[in-house]
Formats: sequence, structure tokens, C-alpha cells
Amino acid sequence: MAYNAYNPTLESGDQGPQIHIREINDEVLDFVLSNTDLSVANALRRVMIAEVPTIAIDIVQIEKNTSVLADEFLAHRLGLIPLCSSTVDRMKYTRDCNCIQACENCTVELTLDMCCQDDDTMEVTSRNLLSNDPNVVPVLTDDNDPGILIVKLRKGQELKVNCLAKKGVAKEHAKWSPVSAVGFEYDPHNRLRHTQYWVEQDEKEEWPLSHNAPEEPEPKPGEPFDFKAEPNRFYFRVETVGSLRPEEVFLTSISVLQDKLGTMQIKLDDDGGQDEPSDMGYGANDQWENGY
Ligand SMILES: [Zn+2]
Repeated sequence: MAYNAYNPTLESGDQGPQIHIREINDEVLDFVLSNTDLSVANALRRVMIAEVPTIAIDIVQIEKNTSVLADEFLAHRLGLIPLCSSTVDRMKYTRDCNCIQACENCTVELTLDMCCQDDDTMEVTSRNLLSNDPNVVPVLTDDNDPGILIVKLRKGQELKVNCLAKKGVAKEHAKWSPVSAVGFEYDPHNRLRHTQYWVEQDEKEEWPLSHNAPEEPEPKPGEPFDFKAEPNRFYFRVETVGSLRPEEVFLTSISVLQDKLGTMQIKLDDDGGQDEPSDMGYGANDQWENGY
């Protein structure tokens, strides 16, 4: 019998986890992950939400604020503005940097200086934030995008702030999350009975099938329950906030997961009394040293 070269427990016809992309554009990645375990699929979902690094405003120095919003309120709104983060790999976390609070290796500076001198209300948006790094700017969908509204100023009101944007992950604060939502579903026909539907009269009427249901055969009426069945196909829909492209979010999440598994492998090998970590089939082992 022939075996897969990368994983000897797999037979040659079995390729391991498979991905089928159903939709991809600037904001959405819709795919089906199959031939893997629920724990792996869920780990991927959690990493995409909370452990893919991006850049967000973290420290706000307010020089002048005569707007109707309190300083804390403004700082919170500024933190939530998505910033283009495609260069985040080149940045350091401030906690890993040699500087005390901020330097060019770990920080991008953005400034906002607006004053209303007209009788009309002035809208201050993310477009008015000026960055010292042309790669790290507030996300805009196109030239007509007015940007995210930060505050409205009336005549004579003024706002002058200096913002420091840092690299971070959403485990620390949700503002660093690269996604607004990750849709996740398996077993759309509830064949495995992991869910119990609450119904008044008719289950089919009250719980319409999801759009993933046509991907799997419908259970036949009176079909016996398979106690050994396990989920094998997982439907993902990743929606980003614009800081990273959806495929970047997915690929980074895979490498974050690999780093975590590599770290665990090294720890386990160390505990076993081995000096060198064993080769896991991913290539050079030194990539694990760059993990968290
Ligand atoms: Zn630094």
C-alpha cells in the first residue's frame, strides 16, 4: 500500500485537508475546508478572529479638543479605525522592541488637526488623519469613500490630536481584529444532531436550510442515526474590515497555527530529553524560533 510522503498515516489517495474556494474578492473569502477535524477547523476560525496581527491606533495624545465628544470617547473611536496593515510583518511589537515607548520599528504616527471656521457643520473623518507612513493609512474603499466619521465640529470648535499606531492582536483588544465576522458552519442538515432545534410546530418550516445545505446530500426520511459519524466539511465565510486582504488573513492564520504547533512540538521534545527538535516535515526548524 502506498503512503503520503508528508504524512505516513495518510494513504496516497488521501491528500489531507482540502480547500475549495467558492468566492473571493477584496473583502470576502468564502471557502469549504474538508478532510480535517472539527478541532482544526475551529482553531483556524479562532486564530483568524483573534491572533492575526494588524496595526491600530493605540496611544492618543490630545492637544486640543473643544468638540462635543470627551477625550476618552474620541480615543476609543480613533482606535477602531481600520488601518492598511499589509506591512505589519515588517513591524515589531513594542514589547519586543528596544525602545521605551515608540520608535520607527514599532510605531506609525498619525495626526489630526481640524478647526471649523464656517457656519456649516464640519465632518471630521478618517480621511483627515495624516500618517507618516504611506503604507499605513486609514482604509478607504475608493476615491469617493468619505471615510469613517470621527466627530462633527461646529464653528469655533477645534480638534488636534497625535496618534501612535502599534502592531497588535485582537486577543489583546478587538480593534486589532482583521475580520468583522467569520461565518462558520458544518453539518447543515444537522445529521450529527449537534444542535437541537426549538420548534413550535414544524421544524422544516421554522428552521429553513442554510445556503450550504445543497453541498451535502439530504438525509433520507427514517435514516438510522450513525453514532460514529464525525463532521468532515466546514463552511467558512471570512469578512475583513479592510486592514488586510482576506487571503492574507487566512494564510497568516495558518502560519500562526503552525508556529503554535511548532512551539508545542519543541517543548514536548525538550521534556522528552532530546536536544534537537525533530523535523516535523515543514522544512527548516528555525522558523519556529520566530514564534510567540
Ligand atoms: Zn520601538
